[in-house]
Amino acid sequence: MPQTIDVNLRSLTGARAEIYPGADVGLRTAAAGKNTFYIETFGCQMNVHDSEKVAGVLLGRGYRQVESPDAAQVVFYNTCSIREKAAQKVFSRLGDFKTRQNEGRIIGVLGCVAQQEGEEIFERAPWVGLVCGSASYRKLPELLAELESGNRRVMGLDKDTGETFETEITRRDNPFRAYLTIIEGCDKSCAYCVVPYTRGPERSRASASILEEVRRLADAGYSEIQLLGQTVNSYRDPSTRRMSFAELLAAVAGVAGIRRVRFTTSHPRDFGADIVAAMDAVPEICDHVHLPVQSGSTRVLRAMQRTYTREEYLEKIALIRAARRPISLTSDIIVGFPGETDRDFEETLSLLDVAQYDSTFSFQFSPRPNTPALRMPDAVPEEEKGRRLAVLQQRQREIQTARNQTRVGQTFEVHVDGASRKAGQWAGRTSSNHILNFTSPRTGLLGEYVQVQVTRAGPNSLVGEHNV
Ligand code: SAM
Ligand code: SF4
Repeated sequence: MPQTIDVNLRSLTGARAEIYPGADVGLRTAAAGKNTFYIETFGCQMNVHDSEKVAGVLLGRGYRQVESPDAAQVVFYNTCSIREKAAQKVFSRLGDFKTRQNEGRIIGVLGCVAQQEGEEIFERAPWVGLVCGSASYRKLPELLAELESGNRRVMGLDKDTGETFETEITRRDNPFRAYLTIIEGCDKSCAYCVVPYTRGPERSRASASILEEVRRLADAGYSEIQLLGQTVNSYRDPSTRRMSFAELLAAVAGVAGIRRVRFTTSHPRDFGADIVAAMDAVPEICDHVHLPVQSGSTRVLRAMQRTYTREEYLEKIALIRAARRPISLTSDIIVGFPGETDRDFEETLSLLDVAQYDSTFSFQFSPRPNTPALRMPDAVPEEEKGRRLAVLQQRQREIQTARNQTRVGQTFEVHVDGASRKAGQWAGRTSSNHILNFTSPRTGLLGEYVQVQVTRAGPNSLVGEHNV
């Protein structure tokens, strides 16, 4: 594998010299206005990280990143098609360029909408020059070269590639937390989900290559690593080392300089006691599991092809609750899946009471192209979906308020990642992934780990004071 170079925000803004050998070539050769790119990202953390890698590919070719599409020669939209609204947003952005087709700008559509709509995008928005799905990103350098040599339209829409998208340069936007994809694609076939179509089959990255990147990130000053995958815990080491996901978590946490390891998203079927045992044994693994349930009704789970029952899911929660330290639990939930009855929905509400999630992402079912759910009978009316979502969110809000109240008076370690304009006001995350806004008499706390006592709590965040 070629040497990987990480360029982070501070290095790009010049706040701290952190450009690795060779990485500055692209930055120095770029002239203002020429060879510039802008990238906007929609959707999940995987997309955010893919954009960081795409930016790395462009930096490596001598491009410079700019903050607005108007100032850019190349404009990329990294798109999401998980729900219809997200996909529509992309076409509305593309519409902005309708009247400016001749300004010599290259417009590219990346990600899930690109994969899903393919050539259709050229039909709907003829001013687009590049369409590339996430499973074809390894081809991006070639596609860019074709555009640079004068081709007007290029496309990358492979699906069944065995390769993962690794780049020589990654431009990391978050100077405090480094994202690292360990598994791409998805082999599950949830009846509502476009991901297996847009991101292709599951491909895991070799453990040695992951650990090498973590070591480099630690050397660059990152102390928090977030391992990513649509089903991160389905990780299967393709190398002869055959490291399990739990072993990998411990190995990443064991790299000198790493203080926090997060992982998302876990699939309930592949979540086992070995992961909880690793969390018990290794304090650097954060006190948080994101374990989407989607529905509390076994009947609906079966229709969704989630491959577990309500009871099996609750057994996984019991494993987590039996850990030696409190572990925060979060989830994704879909309401209004075809055929979901009032009774099924009541079961989802009762599951909230049992699970006691620290937060949830909840959505109305959105029918998506190519998915089995698109053709399922007994659609729930839009109005009813909206009603159920509001009821669910209110119930969860009450649970979060009560849970957060129990944290008042407790002290947590916070990794500081935000400063308010108001002097002495800071923000960060606890190991359990709670946002904690706090005051401190100290300055220069960004990137530091500090002990903060919680003084107040709301449903979505905690407020506290730095224990100096
Ligand atoms: N791989 C993860 C998993 O299995 O939970 C998450 C995939 S997806 C990017 C994030 C969430 O979007 C899902 O957990 C699900 O709740 C929601 N989602 C996916 N497809 C949806 C659809 N067609 N309508 C509504 N919500 C959807
Ligand atoms: Fe989509 Fe299901 Fe795969 Fe998650 S596990 S990405 S919801 S198919």
